[in-house]
Amino acid sequence: MGTNDPGSYDVVGIGFGPANLALAIALEERQDALTARFFERKAALGWHRDMLVPSAKMQVSFLKDLVTFRNPASRFSFVSYLHAKNRLARFANKHDFFPTRMEFHDYLEWAETQFRDRVVYSADVLGLRLPERAEPGGPVDRLRVDVRRNGPDGPVSTEYARNVVISTGLVPRMPLAIERDRSVWHSSEFLSRFNGRDRASLRRVAVVGAGQSAAELTRFLYDELPDSTVYALMPSYGYAIADNTPFANEVFDPAAVDDYHAGSRRAKEATWRYHSNTNYSVVDDEVLASLYARAYDDEVSERHRLRFLRLSRATGVKQVADTAVVTYHSLETERSADLTVDAVVFATGYEAMSPERILGEAEPYCLRHPDGSLLVGRDYRLVTSPELRCGIYLQGGTEHTHGLASSLLSNLAMRGGDIAESLVEHSAHRSLSASPGQAVPSGRP
Ligand SMILES: Cc1cc2nc3c(=O)[nH]c(=O)nc-3n(C[C@H](O)[C@H](O)[C@H](O)COP(=O)(O)OP(=O)(O)OC[C@H]3O[C@@H](n4cnc5c(N)ncnc54)[C@H](O)[C@@H]3O)c2cc1C
Repeated sequence: MGTNDPGSYDVVGIGFGPANLALAIALEERQDALTARFFERKAALGWHRDMLVPSAKMQVSFLKDLVTFRNPASRFSFVSYLHAKNRLARFANKHDFFPTRMEFHDYLEWAETQFRDRVVYSADVLGLRLPERAEPGGPVDRLRVDVRRNGPDGPVSTEYARNVVISTGLVPRMPLAIERDRSVWHSSEFLSRFNGRDRASLRRVAVVGAGQSAAELTRFLYDELPDSTVYALMPSYGYAIADNTPFANEVFDPAAVDDYHAGSRRAKEATWRYHSNTNYSVVDDEVLASLYARAYDDEVSERHRLRFLRLSRATGVKQVADTAVVTYHSLETERSADLTVDAVVFATGYEAMSPERILGEAEPYCLRHPDGSLLVGRDYRLVTSPELRCGIYLQGGTEHTHGLASSLLSNLAMRGGDIAESLVEHSAHRSLSASPGQAVPSGRP
């Protein structure tokens, strides 16, 4: 079934974060002999490295690892990792379903070492192109994938793929097109920026936002800079709690993906309306409680190092000498004011993955809903016009078709399995369709 031409693969994965790592494992465990190659922009596997602040914890149970929901007997489970590291008993003694993000990162690296032969690092995928001699309106059986190696000036090579899995992750969001610089950071680059500065130069720092990252960074800065003032500038009156109660959590179950995909537009809207507080712009209770304890102690000590600017939005930032001057509007006072700090961190979230830039010349083949969003089958395969016989799959960017877990870890194990199964099925049909009279299946909308 697999293609063995050098530079030509049954599956090309774009990005090698947890999602495509889960897919690589699912393909390995099926043993269907599909050839797969993954291209990753970074020099090594890294899962939100710049947010691996000490004590930051996972927001999903360790059972929602790369494999367990699909194959509880997999040798790539978090439990297997703990066993390999000789920590299983101690982990169990902790009575805690939520490992630290550092430990989960270590787990991902442990799993990744067994797939290095399939990954090319420092490889930035520029986009998809049609084959050299594709006739207008004629069938397209494979796609060209342009890959730039080793940085922005590196050489560009072309790989060939029968199927592509786009898994490029979330995109950091800065409000108002604010430019980042030495004193203006996004949370996604936090540790690199923070460690690049002399701590003594950070006497006043601000964190903008009211979600999980904002609360974690406010706590971190308060602890790490004991002589500094930390401003938390938030659009809400206070941080809101993430709902991780059991009934609400079912929204991340594999069955919820079926329900969401098959559901009406109104059902989808209701799911978001009632349950976005399971993940979006909310904070885990443990972080909330510990930050509140600091705020309280701060008041007892009368040092007032932790200042909350409620109901406030940043409206602009200017760099003045070595400082950032943040202009914000407060709904409490209905006034605008300036806040001068040595660094400001925008913990203002991320945009969903957008495959548009990667799709390139394949984009005109992709069918869309009336509102312009991409049609995606339950198997995460883009629905395309029949001439495109290649599969293009999405891991992420499917919030409109597959629901709330689209950018999260919760469903990686199952999703990797679904995509692997679809790849194998289509590959088998393709072989059959070599005989006259057989139709090639297209993704189900
Ligand atoms: C700080 C933080 C903590 C989080 N914690 C949790 C959590 O606890 N639980 C949870 O469920 N979710 C969490 N999330 C959500 C997060 O999206 C998932 O954890 C996870 O990263 C999704 O994996 P992914 O592989 O889809 O994306 P990513 O991890 O973002 O991986 C995508 C990869 O693609 C690469 N890439 C991008 N473009 C290209 C290109 N053109 N060519 C080649 N490579 C490219 C990137 O370098 C990256 O390595 C968190 C998010 C953040 C920001």
